Amino acid sequence: MGERVTVTEVGPRDGLQMAKSIMPTDAKVAWIKALVAAGIHEIEVGSFVPPKLIPQMADTGDVVRAGLEIPGLRIVALVPNLKGAQRAYEAGAHVVTVPVSVSEGHSRANTNKGSLDQVAEVRAIREWLDAQERKVKLDAGCVTAFGCSIEGNVPESRVVMIAAALADAGVDGILLADTVGYGNPAQIRSVVRAVQREVGEKLERLHLHDTMGLGIANALAGLDEGIRCFDSALAGLGGCPFAPGASGNIVTEDLVFMLESMGFDTGIDLDRLIAAREALHRGLPDAELLGNVVKAGIPRTYRRAA
Ligand code: ZN
Repeated sequence: MGERVTVTEVGPRDGLQMAKSIMPTDAKVAWIKALVAAGIHEIEVGSFVPPKLIPQMADTGDVVRAGLEIPGLRIVALVPNLKGAQRAYEAGAHVVTVPVSVSEGHSRANTNKGSLDQVAEVRAIREWLDAQERKVKLDAGCVTAFGCSIEGNVPESRVVMIAAALADAGVDGILLADTVGYGNPAQIRSVVRAVQREVGEKLERLHLHDTMGLGIANALAGLDEGIRCFDSALAGLGGCPFAPGASGNIVTEDLVFMLESMGFDTGIDLDRLIAAREALHRGLPDAELLGNVVKAGIPRTYRRAA
């Protein structure tokens, strides 16, 4: 068996927040079921943000509750603040991810707070979760870690500073997000190394966008540096309402193709993964579905790692 790599599907959250139309709850659940049937066991099913800001996410509580009925699914929810974390906990989410913008400008646009104020919010969430009966994993994301459409360059030293502050706040895992997709492989290597030096194995996950076509190359750079968890979205859906110019996430189908071809075990069946696009299309008929593997077809030379 190859070494395990976890692919977290973020399409139902990141992929839908920019969608022009709203995917009905039962269509979201059908899509999530199709993803689980393909072997994806960790899915970011939505975010607990005010529905006025992102109406596509108004039913996240219902989606989490429906997800609890699907065997083997680990439910991740994005939460911007303590109130969101409380809603996620009450709905039954297993993991909450709190975004913290490394870029001060993006932080203010996204959460109305500076970066360090948002770290303080993470600390408050930690304290609140620790006082609850059920254990929920708390992850925090250093978002805009590789560039920002509002501020431009994001200094590596600032990413390290925010990651260190999050580790100090007691998060269980840290992820680095290329929210706008401006990163390049050399930069991914350098930032991942610098953050690993500071927080060690707490740095777990990369969240990459394919704005410049470098998403898969960036994933490979992270893989080479020891990262074993990646966010991606089926058909490359995605964007950020507060990061102008950001395009979709890396394509789950292409990522799985690369990982399995290289001998890493994702536990995901590529044929069934591609079949899950049908459920996505039914729920969101006007969305553009991307992906190189689908376009070319799975080659006869393809062999799964496991
Ligand atoms: Zn994203």
